[in-house]
Amino acid sequence: MTVGALTAAKGVRTDHPLSGMTTYKFGGAAAWYVEVESMEHLDAVLVARNEQGDGVPVFVLGRGSNVVVSDAGYPGLVIKLTGRFNQLELNGSIVSAGGGVSLPRLARFCANHGRGGLEFFVGIPGSVGGAVTMNAGGHGADTAAWLIDATVLDTECGETVVDDAAALDLSYRHSRLGPSEIVLEARFRTVDRDPAEAEDLMREITAWRRQHQPGGTFNAGSVFKNPPGDAAGRIIDDAGLKGRRCGGVSISEHHANFFVADKSATAQDVHDLVAEVRRTVLDKSGVDLQPEIRFIGDFGGAS
Ligand SMILES: Cc1cc2nc3c(=O)[nH]c(=O)nc-3n(C[C@H](O)[C@H](O)[C@H](O)COP(=O)(O)OP(=O)(O)OC[C@H]3O[C@@H](n4cnc5c(N)ncnc54)[C@H](O)[C@@H]3O)c2cc1C
Repeated sequence: MTVGALTAAKGVRTDHPLSGMTTYKFGGAAAWYVEVESMEHLDAVLVARNEQGDGVPVFVLGRGSNVVVSDAGYPGLVIKLTGRFNQLELNGSIVSAGGGVSLPRLARFCANHGRGGLEFFVGIPGSVGGAVTMNAGGHGADTAAWLIDATVLDTECGETVVDDAAALDLSYRHSRLGPSEIVLEARFRTVDRDPAEAEDLMREITAWRRQHQPGGTFNAGSVFKNPPGDAAGRIIDDAGLKGRRCGGVSISEHHANFFVADKSATAQDVHDLVAEVRRTVLDKSGVDLQPEIRFIGDFGGAS
């Protein structure tokens, strides 16, 4: 049990299990965990974290769809945005979304209001904050293409900035954002779209995913970034790795860039399988695959 200023702050829990909060459904506990409901609440928690005085690291968790949390947990403060950070607002063609808003909800909100462009988000099970940080995309679009700007708080210096896509340095599954920065809100442009047409588009996207991705499994989407002009899944498949397994995690027979977990799986299994695939692919084809998924906390062995 960890004690101190943080433990006394509103809503802060200690040794809080994170396994249920990621799409992989494994991993350890956060030393401290809080669901912040408003800017005032977030500010108060960060003051307590500074008073704690021993350099407590901060990690902001979205919907946990792109992370592997260590089996040993996270030895810092995990912040999740709720309440005020889950709000959506439409002003003309501009939609403002809190950092905690789920991407499928954002897509459907726009569609219901006759606004198009963000339909591709319907198939990405992350949050607005996660999408900005990862420049999430698919179906020929990405976050950068529709983002006007994002409001970002740096928890180290306490400064808030409003940055556009260029200032965020958004490129393929990349942004300039570091672990201490929290996307509080993002504004997106949209276009006129008949709600029925938007609904059809989203249905097509969902059907495509059902056909091409291993649905109904525990996974975190694409494990590796696609190298320029190629597909990580094809490269892994060509290296003869489809079906390869480490403990409770295996490479999907359906799509070789998805690593699927069974109920016995551990975070270390994913870590080890990623390391093995990188080594084998490098040996066989000279390509150094770069992980898209993020490993949180400590892991044994080289990755
Ligand atoms: C079945 C499946 C399909 C997927 N398909 C796609 C796809 O088509 N395209 C694609 O790009 N991705 C895809 N993903 C991956 C994932 O959904 C995206 O990367 C998504 O943007 C991650 O958002 P999240 O909220 O889940 O982030 P998390 O997994 O919680 O975190 C990922 C990173 O974002 C950071 N982060 C989260 N919220 C914030 C915030 N508010 N402020 C600052 N940083 C934050 C975290 O600190 C972490 O570094 C898929 C995942 C799954 C499971």
